[in-house]
Parts: sequence; C-alpha cells; structure tokens
Amino acid sequence: MRSVKRFAGETPIGRKRRARKMARVLAETHPDAHCELDFTNPLELAVATVLSAQTTDVRVNQVTPGLFAQYRTPADYASADRARLEETLRPTGFFRAKTDSLIKLGNALVERYDGVLPNKLDDLVSLPGIGRKTANVILGNAFGVPGITVDTHFRRLTNRFGWVQEEDPVKIEFQVADLIEKRDWTMLSHRVIFHGRRVCHSRKPACGACTLATMCPSYGTGPTEAAPAAKLLKGPRARELAVAAGVDPDLVPAAAVTAPDVP
Ligand code: SF4
Repeated sequence: MRSVKRFAGETPIGRKRRARKMARVLAETHPDAHCELDFTNPLELAVATVLSAQTTDVRVNQVTPGLFAQYRTPADYASADRARLEETLRPTGFFRAKTDSLIKLGNALVERYDGVLPNKLDDLVSLPGIGRKTANVILGNAFGVPGITVDTHFRRLTNRFGWVQEEDPVKIEFQVADLIEKRDWTMLSHRVIFHGRRVCHSRKPACGACTLATMCPSYGTGPTEAAPAAKLLKGPRARELAVAAGVDPDLVPAAAVTAPDVP
C-alpha cells in the first residue's frame, strides 16, 4: 500500500483533477465499454435491467429475445399469464419475484403513463421494480440523459480510487457527480464497471497490470508483480489490457480471454 501516503493530504481540487485523469485513462483502457444488455427501445431496457438483478447480462441476453418477441408493450406484461411468464424468466433466477415486478410494471405504465415509459428520474423510480440504479441505466442508455449507475463494481472501485469513502449508493452517485463532468456520467459508469469486471476484481485486483496503478491509492490491494497480476486479467481484451498497462501480453493465460462474465 505504498501509494496511500501519497494521497493522504490531497485537496478537493486535487482529487477532482486526479478523478478526471483516471476517467480519461479508463476511456482509453476500455474503448469497448458499453451497456451489455441487449435492447431496441426504452421498455426493453427497463425489462432487461429488472431481469439483470443477481445474474449476468449474458444470461439476460439469452432470455430477452424470446421474451421481447412475446411481450412488446406494457399492456402485454400487465395481462401476462403468470405461469407462462415465470417459465420464460426461470433461467434468470428469482423468476417469481421478477415475474411479479414485470406484471406490476406493465400495470403501472398502462394506468399512470398511457403505456409509455417515462424519461424522468422521479417518474421512473416511482415504478414497481425500478430503483435509482435501474432508472439511471435507462436514462443514460435509452434516453441519452447522463446518469451514474452505482452497482457493486462502481461502489467498490470508487472507494478504492479514493473518489469517495462511502457505501451508500445515492451518496456515492452525488459525490462522483461532483467530480466528473455530467456529459461523461453514462460512459464513466460503463468504464468503471468494465474495469471492475476485468481488472479490479473484488477479491484479487490485478494491480500490477492496471493502467490506473500510479493514480490509485489502493495500489497494492492485489499483486503488484506483472506475472501474477497478468493472470488475473479477464475478458476478450485481456491481452490488450496487459499491453496498455505496460505488461507482456504473453503473461496473460489463454483462458482469461474466454473467462465467464462476472455479474
Ligand atoms: S487494480 Fe489495484 S491499482 Fe488498479 S484500480 Fe484496482 S486497486 Fe487500484
């Protein structure tokens, strides 16, 4: 943890400068960052986001083509046959609760919003099954309204980055909003989440193969030697991630590239 001291007396303006620099490096590190849920309209994204709780986006994307073909409007969810919908959602886990959420969501949209998904945060969070995190995903990715998505990766990484010292998602959202320019919020969320899934893992972050190493107060939480760190990189761009961090890509095991998605 040799770098913690370096950041001990950091001023608020110093932290903002460092945060913005880290955000720029994250943009270079993860040019492929995007919303990993498949959708073609705001309702589909809302449904996919509800289904993504406690499972991977890959699993959700396996279920949604069949689901979206059968259920095209809020009215379709409102009038769904519960047993049939449960069967369709079963592979995503917690399928009874998710079925309940989607039927209630359909009803609320039909009754209160003329069957159209609203594009305001306050309206979205008033809907069943839609919390602040989901609402920000929908705003940022379906409506082009900048939003910060605080999921488990975003919470862990922003604390490790020293951007916040906070566990409450709403407080994290507001504090990061103060550090990063609004126009970057949506993409920053994707990039931080990509970094959390591919580099800065919960148990063993790949500090020795991380492009943020010199700017991160938590450098040293994981191995700092290139060889063990490179083994921890994951995802289809694991070798490129090593190169970006100045590490020999041949140290990345072949299996890292096809490693399963992290929820
Ligand atoms: S991998 Fe290590 S250096 Fe990189 S962001 Fe995470 S804790 Fe910081």
